[in-house]
Amino acid sequence: MSGVAELPSVGVWAEAAVGGARAAATALHDAIASDRLSHAWLLVGPDGVGQHELAVALASHANCREASVDARPCGHCDACLRSARDVHPALMTFEPDGAAHRVEDVRGAWTDAAMRTTPEARRKVLRIVAADRMNVAAQNAFLKLLEEPPASVVWILEAEDPGRLLETILSRCRRVDLPPWGSDDVRAWLGAQLGGGAGGGAEDVARIESAVCAARSSGDWLRGMRRDLAGVGPREAREVLDTVARLRDEHLGLVDLLAREGPGAVVPTAKRLVGVAKERREALADRHAAEMAALEEAYGVEGPRGWPPGVKARIEKRFERIARAEEQRTLRLTLDDLGGHLRDLVAVTAGADGDALINADRVEALQRDALRLHPVDLLAALDAVRECRASLDRNGAPELQLERLLLSIATSLYVRSAA
Ligand SMILES: [Zn+2]
Repeated sequence: MSGVAELPSVGVWAEAAVGGARAAATALHDAIASDRLSHAWLLVGPDGVGQHELAVALASHANCREASVDARPCGHCDACLRSARDVHPALMTFEPDGAAHRVEDVRGAWTDAAMRTTPEARRKVLRIVAADRMNVAAQNAFLKLLEEPPASVVWILEAEDPGRLLETILSRCRRVDLPPWGSDDVRAWLGAQLGGGAGGGAEDVARIESAVCAARSSGDWLRGMRRDLAGVGPREAREVLDTVARLRDEHLGLVDLLAREGPGAVVPTAKRLVGVAKERREALADRHAAEMAALEEAYGVEGPRGWPPGVKARIEKRFERIARAEEQRTLRLTLDDLGGHLRDLVAVTAGADGDALINADRVEALQRDALRLHPVDLLAALDAVRECRASLDRNGAPELQLERLLLSIATSLYVRSAA
């Protein structure tokens, strides 16, 4: 790949770049423009702020079969479609299976991917999610791959905490920072997902504002929406946001419910919340099965080409891991919403309003609730939420943990508001 003839227009990269990732897109674009594409990039930032789009843009740029005169990736050839769906053999994503990347994976799957020849691809894009979760042994094994890069390989390392990577790795990568999304980034992105404001009106504004507040409350909300909105049209996007709003309503109703009904509400509420988390895991597994069937139809065993080697097993493994994590993720965002709500109630008592609040779309309800709850109880409840979240991360029985948390909140809020 060389020369201006193979350039995508800057527009393609701008489209790929969402939120604060435009600087990264420009850097990648310029590197290709000057034909000085580094063989290793380090994208530093929180998960899900544009890394995937950049990897797809890079892979489709590198391997498009039908680039037009200005050589934009066409977006509809086999190579572009497979890249976008993450099933192109020349775009591989490695995620840690568990807490960390294992040295066996680096020596096995990663090395195979880097060394294997891929006849249908000009360049291979190998993406390592959470590269900062390689232990030292894995990093040393990876360093060997970086030191002798096959000409066709571009590594994309993603890290939140680059300080955990060896200096020898850092010095071989070109670093680009991807800033976390602010509320305006989320708002603009959601607006585009709903069709740029055409036809939705006031309902869409409310949907978007609710989702923006959800994203402020928990990074897990934003990651989930980024996943669920990928590749869907405005109508489905509205359904996704309505589900977010419903769940958020339930979470923001917890304090009031516990204050009104007291300890009697604890057991059924904990059961319901855990049930919702399980349902979301199952719904995701169903969606994965449908996605798999669609991919089979497009590329599968029936067709003349069949699956590229290793790709099907890789996708199945990834789907399984994502579904497994969904239950925990849902419980985490339940606690984040509850914690954010309590924090808002304390803040409102101290006179805060507007954007100083997480749930800025609920100012009136917050002011009303804050009047009948005592700040001391709210602060104690906030501590209990933090404690519960930490012990949930250590993998305790979720229903029991939630019961304990809700009981401690119910006891203090109910007694005090009854008094
Ligand atoms: Zn193409």
